[in-house]
Amino acid sequence: MSYEDTIVALATPSGTGAISIIRISGKDAIVIGDQIFKSVRGKKLGLQKSHTIHLGHIIDGKKVLDEVLVSVFRGPNSYTGENVLEISCHGSPYIQQQVLQLILRKGCRAASAGEFTLKAFLNGKMDLSQAEAVADLIASDSAASHEIALNQMRGGFSSEIESLREELLNFASLIELELDFSQEDVEFANREQFNELLSRISAVLKKLIDSFALGNVLKHGIPVAIVGQPNVGKSTLLNALLNEDRAIVSSIAGTTRDTVEDSISIQGVNFRFIDTAGIRSTRDEVEQIGIERTFSKIEQAKLIIFLFDGPDFDREQLNNLKDQYPNKRILPICNKLDRLTKKQIHDIEEEIQNVLFISAKNGTGIDTLQETLFGLVDTGALSGDETIVSNSRHYDALLKALEEIQKVKEGMDIEISSDLLAIDIRQALFHLGEITGSVTTDDLLGNIFSNFCIGK
Ligand code: GDP
Repeated sequence: MSYEDTIVALATPSGTGAISIIRISGKDAIVIGDQIFKSVRGKKLGLQKSHTIHLGHIIDGKKVLDEVLVSVFRGPNSYTGENVLEISCHGSPYIQQQVLQLILRKGCRAASAGEFTLKAFLNGKMDLSQAEAVADLIASDSAASHEIALNQMRGGFSSEIESLREELLNFASLIELELDFSQEDVEFANREQFNELLSRISAVLKKLIDSFALGNVLKHGIPVAIVGQPNVGKSTLLNALLNEDRAIVSSIAGTTRDTVEDSISIQGVNFRFIDTAGIRSTRDEVEQIGIERTFSKIEQAKLIIFLFDGPDFDREQLNNLKDQYPNKRILPICNKLDRLTKKQIHDIEEEIQNVLFISAKNGTGIDTLQETLFGLVDTGALSGDETIVSNSRHYDALLKALEEIQKVKEGMDIEISSDLLAIDIRQALFHLGEITGSVTTDDLLGNIFSNFCIGK
């Protein structure tokens, strides 16, 4: 397998559709196109301009396989930077397979996962973080994750890193130059300016690192555990939030034996609700397993909804949750408002601060609950032009880069020799370069692109 090969893949999902797109990329793309395509106007694709579309037929020997549209993109002005053809054929799995087989017989290789985007990266059409954003964009399932991916794909994230890296590279060169003149005790790199740059880089790195907490939850959804005694209405609440009957609702205590998870989007932010098996002491083995899972799910949650259904709720459980998870937000919510008297409501309000009242069954208070949930997420960064890191590989590289920058700073403070300083700077440059792809290894590329879908 070589990156020089001309590759082909179905770019749209397999299965039946109105149209399907088959994509070919590589130096022979247009030549191969001319072997299988006859334009209705009779002109060869090889003579067509870039960025043009042509109606014609896919021909296998004398047999017409389909009437299609072929888009021609000549390298380097294409997605991959190579010659690219996109064949829009009719979306029957039979036609897709016939056309693909024909193209493979003409000498194309079947593309591996993410190979079109890998080519784009290798040909300098985008940097690594932009290429990764393509995968995120395809996978995005909420307005927030979509926005983060789009911003990253446009290069917002990597341009910031790249310009810092260049500044640091300049200093690295100056400090390395000093090594050549080590006998003469000269300083080409102005230490004061260098210190200032290091502080600036640290600040930017820290901000990006901090943004990951938000970026990560926005990408994967904010996990919210719904906890409470059996029968308080956890499943009903989940259904009300999801607006459909996904969890089983019944009035026999302990019905929700396993955990159920589902996501809803509130104002563009995904929340992953985890209905739990309720916590009560039990001898039932199956239920016991469910309860253990409940605790492990609570561990993963960012927010905990403590649901109860009246004045005789389990105070001990609420207090235990607060003690056990001091860093998690716990939302006390009283369900079955329809059954409560004014006095009961008053007493509960007196006892629990910021308690919300709902009726999961009637849908009362669900809007307020959704607003409250959204309000708990600090989405301030979403509205501005702030860069949000959502990729754990980037997060990792940023942490390592920051660590190296701190080392350089400490080295400067105790005035270590330029050669040691240069080593630490190179390390920091390496980790920054890992993000944008200025520094890559085959393993890293393999890892990233194998997670793509075929045809992208
Ligand atoms: P879970 O065990 O906590 O998941 O509780 P369920 O969701 O299965 O609900 C237990 C029972 O309470 C069911 O019969 C529901 O119909 C009922 N229920 C749930 N929410 C409400 C509500 O807001 N008002 C009233 N009156 N009943 C409710």
